[in-house]
Amino acid sequence: MSLNDADAAAPARVAEATPTRTVPPQVWFDGRFVDAGSDRAPLTTHAMHYGSGVFEGIRAYATSDGGSAVFRLPEHLERMRQGCELLGIAFDVDVATEATLAVLRQNGHRDAYVRPLAWCGTGSIGLDVSSVDKHLMVATFPTNVHLAGTRVKLGTSSWRRNPASSLPPLKLCGAYVNSILAKHEVKQRGCNEALFVDEQGRVVECTGANVFMVRDDRIIAVAHRDALAGITRDTIIALTGAESRPVRHDELLDADEVFVVGTAAEVTPVDELDDRAYADHRVVREVADLYRRVVRGDEPRHARWLTRV
Ligand code: PMP
Repeated sequence: MSLNDADAAAPARVAEATPTRTVPPQVWFDGRFVDAGSDRAPLTTHAMHYGSGVFEGIRAYATSDGGSAVFRLPEHLERMRQGCELLGIAFDVDVATEATLAVLRQNGHRDAYVRPLAWCGTGSIGLDVSSVDKHLMVATFPTNVHLAGTRVKLGTSSWRRNPASSLPPLKLCGAYVNSILAKHEVKQRGCNEALFVDEQGRVVECTGANVFMVRDDRIIAVAHRDALAGITRDTIIALTGAESRPVRHDELLDADEVFVVGTAAEVTPVDELDDRAYADHRVVREVADLYRRVVRGDEPRHARWLTRV
């Protein structure tokens, strides 16, 4: 089955929200395109009951030459492969690469959030997934901003991050219930993002982003074994030479600037953490500008990070 095979069963409909398009957005699903709204997952889907899946969050950007490119696609898919390996889901990076590029082209999305998901389907409702069928889909959404453009009010959660010794910091679906709990908790206090700290008061990460601070013009990347090894974090360290080290919660409160980074969050200044307000975002804005130029292909030195669509 070619990656470009359209789903013969999908009727061509005029999408209501986008009158100029004659087909609704498509999702790549097990080697073919299906309508994004189609319900292909049965109610007995294993992943729905236990979170037995692995996902990625990837961005594609319109580039100034009129094309578009996916940022650090091989690194995202390698992380996904590692998660799949742990769950015994066969994952072919080449197939996922082609699927990602094909669905971006199919949907005509240049600035997009890309969501691959590999999951355990049906076959058993027990916890041994070896006999359960496995699936892969890739969806694209016109750019979805996670935190950009909003005032970020971080609240320290009373929940602990999943310890790496229990749940490896990879993008395993079920692990994100931990993030959902923390976000739900701090929203009641008027915050829009949660910060995890460990029992010793060391900063771990946010629900979907890594943390940095600026002190005396030096940029420090928060390091913690329970945090996801973020690709944006790695990018910012490579671009700025930031030091990576453990950071205590009180150091973060004392910092001149704090910012969070992630594929969806990009580089976003933190306005408040608990009762502390950060007025200065000078260094963060410089880093955010540099990151923006890199992902859009305006920094030829870093063109190796872009996979052209
Ligand atoms: N931490 C968590 C828990 C995340 O979900 C994400 C988003 N993937 C990040 C950090 C940032 O990772 P990346 O820069 O690879 O998107």
